[in-house]
Amino acid sequence: MTVKLFSKEEWISTLKGVQDSCRIFVPAENGDYHSFLDLKDDVEPDFGFQNSRLSAKAVVFPQSERMFEFKVGGDDPEADILKDAPKDYSFQAVVGIRPCDAHGFQIVKRNFDNPEYQDPWWVKRYESTILVGLGCGNPCSTCFCTSVGGGPFDETNLDVLLYDLGDRMLAKGITGRGTDFLNSLSGGRDADDSDLEQAESLSAASSDKMGKNHVSTDQLRDKVVTELFDAGFWEDVAFSCINCGTCTFLCPTCWCFDIQDEVYNGQGDRIRNWDTCMSPLFTLEGSGHNPRQNKFQRVRQRFMHKLKYYVDKYESGVQCSGCGRCVRFCPVNIDIRRVAEMMNSFKKQSNT
Ligand code: SF4
Ligand code: SF4
Repeated sequence: MTVKLFSKEEWISTLKGVQDSCRIFVPAENGDYHSFLDLKDDVEPDFGFQNSRLSAKAVVFPQSERMFEFKVGGDDPEADILKDAPKDYSFQAVVGIRPCDAHGFQIVKRNFDNPEYQDPWWVKRYESTILVGLGCGNPCSTCFCTSVGGGPFDETNLDVLLYDLGDRMLAKGITGRGTDFLNSLSGGRDADDSDLEQAESLSAASSDKMGKNHVSTDQLRDKVVTELFDAGFWEDVAFSCINCGTCTFLCPTCWCFDIQDEVYNGQGDRIRNWDTCMSPLFTLEGSGHNPRQNKFQRVRQRFMHKLKYYVDKYESGVQCSGCGRCVRFCPVNIDIRRVAEMMNSFKKQSNT
């Protein structure tokens, strides 16, 4: 196993040194919060962040993406023929991604890369991406990754795992691709026993903190879907929601998109954009009928999809990696942890 140790300055200059062979995305200050930005755009990486406001899902699944291009009308024999729009599948690394967000990619993968359907763009970009994770030494009070199959230093979905040891960064190769990447970096030295002990104690201390953030999901599979759907608590859960969509746009495990054609000067683009089930327009049909016209129906859909439909379809896990973003940034404090507990402990009343 390759485990290397870098000083912080050396780590950042090393990353800058590999940009010719690999696009590097790093957490960096972006206004009032952190985002994953391309290192080549003169950004200063900041690994002292807690977590980025937006997850790194856009690195593989852009918020807006040209799927096809076409010419419109005229005598051109090529008119109205959809052609795959040029896309960039060059090798890239997301450096500093938290283990919960790496887990998020695995959850999304079930939708975009399964035996019945492979989304060609998502799959190619995912396959050209390595995930260099950064363990969480100081999880937020809203994090609950350990309740949904993850952990603050969980290696499962990563190619490399980083441990922030103050003025040094310890980098441990997990997969073959991750180890190759690590070996391609200049500088650093092999980690010694004392470095490894520090990394271990950092991980153990973090796991202790996470022990307090438990959310129960173990009974969800046993619930009858129609009974949960008709549970009496949905109006209460949804009461304060303003359908802003923040929860879904920040979420590493939400994958919904809308497709639109845009035409300008005879040139057309078919574009997909992230969409949100929290928007009243999401299910508006051409006839004017909207099966989720009421707010409680949309809020119910979000939680039923994440915590019941997904659970029943894949027979393991939930569609949530416990990153806590939707808890932290919902402007009206709707809390998925509370809703999960309500769903998990739900019992049908005989008179309802
Ligand atoms: S962030 Fe909160 S208020 Fe906004 S749509 Fe989500 S649940 Fe509703
Ligand atoms: S549902 Fe909320 S806590 Fe779960 S992955 Fe999405 S944003 Fe994070």
